[in-house]
Amino acid sequence: MRSLKILTVVGARPQFVKAAALSPVLARQDGVAEVIVHTGQHFDANMSDIFFSEMAIPEPRHNLGIGGGTHGQNTGRMIEALEAVLLAEVPDAVVVYGDTDSTLAAAVATSKLAVPLAHIEAGLRSFRRTMPEEINRVVTDHLADVLYAPSVSAVANLKREGIPQDRIVNCGDVMHDVVRLFTTIAMQRSAALDRLGLLPGEYNLMTLHRKENTDDRARLESILDGIAASPRPIVFPVHPRTTKRLAEFGLKLPRIVRTIEPQGYLDTLRLEASAHQILTDSGGVQKEAYFHGVPCVTLRDETEWVELVESGANMVVGADSARIAACLTGSALMNAKPNIYGDGRAAERIVDDLLKRLRP
Ligand code: UDP
Repeated sequence: MRSLKILTVVGARPQFVKAAALSPVLARQDGVAEVIVHTGQHFDANMSDIFFSEMAIPEPRHNLGIGGGTHGQNTGRMIEALEAVLLAEVPDAVVVYGDTDSTLAAAVATSKLAVPLAHIEAGLRSFRRTMPEEINRVVTDHLADVLYAPSVSAVANLKREGIPQDRIVNCGDVMHDVVRLFTTIAMQRSAALDRLGLLPGEYNLMTLHRKENTDDRARLESILDGIAASPRPIVFPVHPRTTKRLAEFGLKLPRIVRTIEPQGYLDTLRLEASAHQILTDSGGVQKEAYFHGVPCVTLRDETEWVELVESGANMVVGADSARIAACLTGSALMNAKPNIYGDGRAAERIVDDLLKRLRP
């Protein structure tokens, strides 16, 4: 049997979480070696290192140390550095996740060298080209040789854009795998509630980091006005970009908000699972809310995870302070269908399919 080298490119927090589903499945395969490359897009200990240690993701062999610049600077530097890594490593395939600048750079460098490219979490669309992530997804999907889509709607988006059917696999969502693998461990090991003096069901959890919210003072202010109506404390792990913008705009958080540092994955799962409601503009956190059965209020004008809205698990309210306040003061019941995004075994399906393609 031919041995295979799979090179995985990660760089940002949501990609470390997704790699935690796939890396252990790759490690179990005979004759398969995974080489992880970290672009350095997220570099703080609490945005990067903690995920590798807590979730037992193999150490990156290459750390490119590229972060902190503009989209163009980061992407350009990453393409150049990744090309050198690919020429040195000569992998049989490259795996990329999601929609960050690291995803885009890896897709460009890989496809120019004619190395097979697999895109995990393919086919998601906000249909809003002003969103940097949307550009990254569209380009990556059109460069990829195999596209692992998490939902029926993602498959439909890809087909509508003319991507051949035989390249698309509806495998379910790897984030469901991760929640399945780590929730029990989080409930046993995380001391987040005790540390913060919180009781289950008696607080809301918020995350907020999308550029469309953080970089637009009026939207950010309107969100802060809306959340001030919360009858429960809002626990808010603040993303570095949001900390920076709040300071630049001189905005004060409502008294009901309790800020904390970005959390590791186990503490985040614990805080999510026991929250009364979750408010977020994160893609991953919207789904985690659903997996835990916690109602979600999405602080965006649209979502890529349309099934969550259709099933009643998610209310998309934008930055409208009145709608946000109404969600926080109204009833928070949820009765969504189970397993919208597969059965929590997406990584096995992906690895199985990828190896069949590489070893026909
Ligand atoms: N997350 C975390 N600590 C935090 C906030 C989020 O571990 O303080 C996790 C969260 O559980 C989810 C992932 O980070 O798995 C989502 O990443 P993010 O919101 O940065 O990106 P997006 O999903 O919007 O691309």
